[in-house]
Amino acid sequence: MTTPSPYPHLFSPLDLGFTTLRNRILMGSMHTGLEDRARDFPKLAAYFAERAAGGVGLIVTGGFAPNMMGWLAPFGGKLSWPWEARKHRQVTAAVHGHGAKICLQLLHAGRYAYHPLQVAPSRIKSPINPFTPRALTGFGVERTISAYVNAARLARDGGYDGVEVMGSEGYLINQFLSARTNRRTDAWGGDLRKRMRFATEIVRRVREACGPDFIIVYRLSMLELVPEGSSWDEIVAQAKAIEAAGATVLNTGIGWHEARVPTIATSVPRAAFAGVTAKLRPEVKLPLVATNRINMPDVAERILAGGGADLVSMARPLLADPAWANKARAGRADRINTCIACNQACLDHVFSQKNASCLVNPRACVETELVYAPTTAPRRIAVVGAGPAGLACATVAAERGHRVTLFDAADEIGGQFNLAKRIPGKEEFHETLRYFRHRIEDTGVDLRLSMPVDAAALAGFDAVVVATGIRPRTVDFPGADHPKVVSYLDVLGGRVRTGPRVAIVGAGGIGFDVAEFLVHQPLVDASVMEVAPKADAAEPASPSPDSLSLDPARWMAEWGVDPTFSSPGGLRRPEPEPPAREVWLLQRSPGKPGAKLGKTTGWIHRATLKAKQVAMLGGVSYLGVDDTGFRIRVDGQEQTLPVDQVVVCAGQEPRRDLFDALQAAGIAAHLIGGADIAAELDAKRAIDQGSRLAAAL
Ligand code: FAD
Ligand code: NAP
Ligand code: SF4
Repeated sequence: MTTPSPYPHLFSPLDLGFTTLRNRILMGSMHTGLEDRARDFPKLAAYFAERAAGGVGLIVTGGFAPNMMGWLAPFGGKLSWPWEARKHRQVTAAVHGHGAKICLQLLHAGRYAYHPLQVAPSRIKSPINPFTPRALTGFGVERTISAYVNAARLARDGGYDGVEVMGSEGYLINQFLSARTNRRTDAWGGDLRKRMRFATEIVRRVREACGPDFIIVYRLSMLELVPEGSSWDEIVAQAKAIEAAGATVLNTGIGWHEARVPTIATSVPRAAFAGVTAKLRPEVKLPLVATNRINMPDVAERILAGGGADLVSMARPLLADPAWANKARAGRADRINTCIACNQACLDHVFSQKNASCLVNPRACVETELVYAPTTAPRRIAVVGAGPAGLACATVAAERGHRVTLFDAADEIGGQFNLAKRIPGKEEFHETLRYFRHRIEDTGVDLRLSMPVDAAALAGFDAVVVATGIRPRTVDFPGADHPKVVSYLDVLGGRVRTGPRVAIVGAGGIGFDVAEFLVHQPLVDASVMEVAPKADAAEPASPSPDSLSLDPARWMAEWGVDPTFSSPGGLRRPEPEPPAREVWLLQRSPGKPGAKLGKTTGWIHRATLKAKQVAMLGGVSYLGVDDTGFRIRVDGQEQTLPVDQVVVCAGQEPRRDLFDALQAAGIAAHLIGGADIAAELDAKRAIDQGSRLAAAL
């Protein structure tokens, strides 16, 4: 007898009339970079095959342009010739071999195209692109529709079960739909009916060309989050028109790329936008797909069980864990390697013209290259340090069959992730630690906590890996030893509770995170700094900041999202909550602090701190700290910041004492993570380096 699934709605099949999806999990479209070159198609096939084998119901590929004008970037993925269709057969066959279905996404970038050939309904430049588009002529519009139809036919020839027509996120179809970008006065612009015509003609003619047994998913822009965006009535009208034109499934699109509201970053509450899809549910008969920040099965099941959608779309969560669906179905959700929505290895890579991968799963998109093959020569391996680098190395090595002992001086695994998880908006980091706790158990790693090790303890091992992380860099300006000057470890570790005015020295990732922490952490007593004994440093001496990411209503008010999704674009006046403290965030380099933060998330960190009135200053000289405050010079002017504390976030140095001792004792060791190179170290590099070393041991 089979055990009933803990997620019955998620794993019930969906009958589309002419074909059936085996469950309600749609792998959402994600550009990986592998789509762009024919030579990468075997890798693309392997990447999708792992997700199909992992149990997903329907896959949607990254976007393929129907013609050159629609390229996202020069020589990007395109489907307009039969020879381009043939290479797709390896992808579709690989997916079908594992029982999943696959649709190719048709995406014309319109004015978001990053090249001078770009076209749009009207000659209106996008705020996020240096190129100004050419307005399509009436003949050009017809040719573009034909290009969509041709690409859909070729997709069918390539073995796809259907296509997804990308009608949202501010791309070409969305540009036609919106009065904000469509100022035409011909048959393709003007009132809503005419603005919708481009979208409905594409769907109608694709249906006509590809027949009744071809899946057409249409991604509808349900919440635009831009000024002059569609009103709710217009969205309902679009949904009904697309249904009438012959679509099979309606997927949800949230926000244009130029929107100034985060839609998928880690600080966005889970399933924050599922209510938009639920609001549309009574208006159409087509199956609807809910999207954005759905990363765990309980969240997905809740949406489906509540009747707010018929499928859930996840893109990054399946990059993070190809076996997500199988684990959920087997009641092993606690084994899922959860996407923490950091964007660091996926979207940030793509926006830097690199192939996507995943911070928590470095095998993503290199499945054929980074292989964790069983070892033929098991060895006794010691890994010292259970931060991200050591955790990745120990568990991959053990999975391969080595006998691994993992030591950490602390009484819990995670290293600096235990500080990161305390930052408001970074609650997802708890999931990575939960995942590794189970991985340690499942792979049989012998974990030794509260055990600082020295060179002598490592003498009997066949191989030693040093993953001892970093030490915070100290500063040397006058007064650096004043009691007001503390480390970020003191503040985030809970040893120090700061007063109402705080300066932060160093505006890197940690400086920004500490600022976020301080503007949220409630003050206990406005004038008193609490100092807990050092022994308590592992746990906060006071409650952690309450995070907007855990409360969709407060989060929407903070960012100016209309909770009823009725106003044009779904926007309203933002009402940020007042900051808990007055904070100055300082750096010595000239220019705006935060310039080196993540490509797709840096603007969110800067906007958050701006809303909390944090003074972000570059080009600062630190003159000294005394009882009156922090003396600094900016733009040639000296001033004293009347602060209660100065929190030092000045970067890190490798922690190498153990490695040096091993060398002195003649014991060979591998160095990984912060202990290897601390500069610009992040968890992406730490996990990648640990995994790759373990694959080679
Ligand atoms: P660590 O995490 O420092 O782990 C080293 C471990 O070694 C520790 O657990 C320590 O106890 C142990 N150890 C040291 N010496 C010994 C010894 N002799 N014996 C036994 N054990 C020992 N990175 C990102 O990519 N994205 C983020 O959003 C992000 N946010 C962050 C936010 C904060 C507040 C902080 C502090 C860091 C953040 N980071 C982030 C950085 C990330 O956490 C680090 O890059 C990563 O933890 C480095 O991993 P590691 O394994 O090299 O070292
Ligand atoms: P960092 O990014 O290197 O920033 C260090 C800051 O300290 C810089 O602003 C630097 O600016 C300043 N500084 C350096 N030496 C100094 C000195 N001697 N005196 C005073 N100021 C000094 O390091 P971090 O903020 O500690 O972050 C560590 C790593 O964690 C980063 O590489 C980052 O990738 C990762 N991280 C990532 C995130 C994320 O959201 N992705 C979040 C947190 C951490 P000036 O030299 O101009 O003063
Ligand atoms: Fe998710 Fe970060 Fe991996 Fe991207 S890199 S898939 S956001 S965990």
